[in-house]
Amino acid sequence: MSYPQEFQGIAILDHKEYLHPKKVNFPPKVFGDHDVDIKIECCGVCGSDHHFAKGNWGDVPKPLVCGHEIIGKVVKLGNKCETGVKIGDRVGVGAECFACLKCDRCKSDNEQYCEHQVWTLAKAYDDGYVSKGGFANYVRVHEHFAIPIPDNLESATTAPLMCGGITVFSPLLRNGCGPGKKVGIMGIGGIGHMGILLAKAMGADVYAISRSNAKKEDAMKLGADHYIATKDEPEWNIKYKDTLDLVVICAGSLTDIDFNKLPMIMKIGGHIVSIAMPDATEKVVLHPLGLLGVSVSNSAIGSRKEIIQLLKLASEKNIKPWVETLPIGENGVGEAFARMDTGDVKYRFTLVDYDEEFST
Ligand code: NAP
Ligand code: ZN
Repeated sequence: MSYPQEFQGIAILDHKEYLHPKKVNFPPKVFGDHDVDIKIECCGVCGSDHHFAKGNWGDVPKPLVCGHEIIGKVVKLGNKCETGVKIGDRVGVGAECFACLKCDRCKSDNEQYCEHQVWTLAKAYDDGYVSKGGFANYVRVHEHFAIPIPDNLESATTAPLMCGGITVFSPLLRNGCGPGKKVGIMGIGGIGHMGILLAKAMGADVYAISRSNAKKEDAMKLGADHYIATKDEPEWNIKYKDTLDLVVICAGSLTDIDFNKLPMIMKIGGHIVSIAMPDATEKVVLHPLGLLGVSVSNSAIGSRKEIIQLLKLASEKNIKPWVETLPIGENGVGEAFARMDTGDVKYRFTLVDYDEEFST
């Protein structure tokens, strides 16, 4: 195989034109001793790609190559790689591609909170190079973030676990989701639908919480035991009072979440964890008298150790996110973002057919 000096990707060049991305060549970052190159097979499209592409979190350097739910094969290894990863291994990469791995946060399996971490897209390394994600033929990442995929998992349905899946799995794990616990998943989109699958696989009694009844049938098929429609059922806070041990908010925006009502359905000592990262202008107001002994926190992705645990669970319990595939390319990426604008996806897009789009 001829080895390309430049990678190729499908990039946003102007936030206003996010529905019309363009194919571009770009230089990869300087190859480090612990880096691996991965030839990409497929990549999920996360709500965060959509936010980035639209400019919801501000203007970011261009070309903006989105994509951080990557599965591919390792084609190049740095000469100090020590995780055991080998050429030809099938690996996954999520939203993080670098951390210092020396600080207290990294050493306690919290590298997603490392102050030196680099996201897989649109974030500058110390040398100023801005990371480029998985809507591309190759990605170059630190070996720590290239995680082996168990053989029995299909690539297209596993890709979304690398960001969306781990983002809901980590707070479920850290807040005691399991048998005997009543766990709510609020916002049934890409991440929320994986939350239902995972909370159920972990043994909890699962409450799917959506704004309307439109997703009820799907939520029950995914394994939910109960369904709450907050807009169609105005008295939900009374009906489910003192019920839940844990809620993970998986919404793309918080504007339709009633933070006066939500704490009322929690047991005393319950946990509400938000993974939402909405439009930078959104503010949440918590009424102090409404808190009722409930803790409210947030959470970012998950550590390598947790991703390995998630993939093991998916492999053992045959967990398959509901995926619609689209061919990678200017049209495929544009269609994914356009349909995400109207919530027209059940429930995650995975971009496929990379060999057809890219010649190397
Ligand atoms: P998604 O597929 O677009 O799903 C978002 C869901 O949010 C929708 O299906 C909808 O569920 C609900 N929703 C939409 N608008 C809402 C509003 N105005 N008020 C309340 N709920 C609303 O997105 P996703 O990929 O699941 O991502 C969700 C969020 O997680 C995004 O903000 C993304 O940036 C963030 N994220 C965070 C992390 C992290 O590490 N913390 C990692 C990845 C992504 P219903 O129709 O069921 O109500
Ligand atoms: Zn993501």
